[in-house]
Amino acid sequence: MDKVDVVVVGAGVVGLAVGRALARSGRETLVLERETAIGQGVSSRNSEVIHAGLYYPEGSLKARLCVAGKHRLYEFCASHGVAHRRCGKLVVATDAAQLAGLRALAAKGQQNGVDDLRWLDGAEARALEPALRCEAALLSPSTGIVDSHGLMLALQGDMETAGGMLGLGSEVLGLRATPEGQVLRVRADGAEMELLADLVINAAGLWAPWLAACSEGLDAVHVPAAHYCKGSYFSLAGRAPFGRLIYPLPQEASLGVHLTLDLGGQARFGPDAQWLEGVADPDGLDYVVDPARAEGFYADVRRYWPLLPDGALQPAYSGVRPKIHGPGEPAPDFRIDGPAQHGVPGLVNLLGIESPGLTSCLAIADEVLARLA
Ligand SMILES: Cc1cc2nc3c(=O)[nH]c(=O)nc-3n(C[C@H](O)[C@H](O)[C@H](O)COP(=O)(O)OP(=O)(O)OC[C@H]3O[C@@H](n4cnc5c(N)ncnc54)[C@H](O)[C@@H]3O)c2cc1C
Repeated sequence: MDKVDVVVVGAGVVGLAVGRALARSGRETLVLERETAIGQGVSSRNSEVIHAGLYYPEGSLKARLCVAGKHRLYEFCASHGVAHRRCGKLVVATDAAQLAGLRALAAKGQQNGVDDLRWLDGAEARALEPALRCEAALLSPSTGIVDSHGLMLALQGDMETAGGMLGLGSEVLGLRATPEGQVLRVRADGAEMELLADLVINAAGLWAPWLAACSEGLDAVHVPAAHYCKGSYFSLAGRAPFGRLIYPLPQEASLGVHLTLDLGGQARFGPDAQWLEGVADPDGLDYVVDPARAEGFYADVRRYWPLLPDGALQPAYSGVRPKIHGPGEPAPDFRIDGPAQHGVPGLVNLLGIESPGLTSCLAIADEVLARLA
């Protein structure tokens, strides 16, 4: 049986960042990806926003890794020529009843080490963004946007330069803990084979709980139930009305229907939040955007941009959040479950890596490496 030091399962932005860090640390690293190209999962179906770190509970992995990851990501993009823009964002209170929520968000951001936030009254906000309607806004200058595919290609390039390998079209079907290491069952080119590794990092995104459940030796109490929450986007025909990203206050399962810009300056709105029930397998997810959802978008967006014209929104794309909690339950932290958590040698499960996973990818990789040391 072939043997490597480390197998990372999944070539999304997190798996590639972890694979890069492990290869650069001198470990023989193989990233296995079931699709025939990198970044076909959650990493290609998101808002491509570099988050500042406002939303997450103080001391959580999400807060710490988002803030650290943001700084790491800006440096990485600058040094690797990855397209990005530090465009800033405004989080808005659209009526007086929302002011307390906006103040609480500002306080949380400061607790998390986001030290550049500025409180703006309605007139100050409109001086920056004349089309905006709000009572007050929080300006986050360190929020930005990034080309997620350019980022993944740069991570892959760095990993390969350090000797790491990528196996596309290679699906990991299960794991088995043995005294020699983790034995992986892999299907590639229509054939099944076994592979031995000292360490397996499960970065399988929507499939991560499924793969954890297929890990012999891992107690089921360490396998969270997978929940799927779809977010649809609508693009705006015509010129973008704002130069910065515009966010309402966050909601239960999402950050609210916000306006983001792509690097070409085109505006889109989303994602909304639609819990998907009865999904047995992420392969069965339906990514088609239902045009009827536009109605909710018009109502949400007009709270902060009343001039949104009728008929201006076109169905664009959707993504599905890899949640490990259900509707109405409190949002859990990122889970980086290694032997210290579950007791199985040579296995690290990355679970519930929803937003801000893109922003945090390099910091998640640092964290995995630090824990292995
Ligand atoms: C709607 C939406 C908006 C978001 N917006 C933002 C944002 O603006 N900013 C931000 O920071 N974050 C955002 N996120 C979160 C961010 O996109 C994710 O946290 C991040 O992309 C997760 O990356 P990943 O590598 O863990 O998962 P993925 O990109 O899904 O990668 C997992 C990979 O594993 C592969 N795989 C699965 N099972 C197997 C197997 N058995 N064998 C081999 N390969 C396997 C899959 O094919 C996939 O390529 C958003 C998420 C969503 C859904």
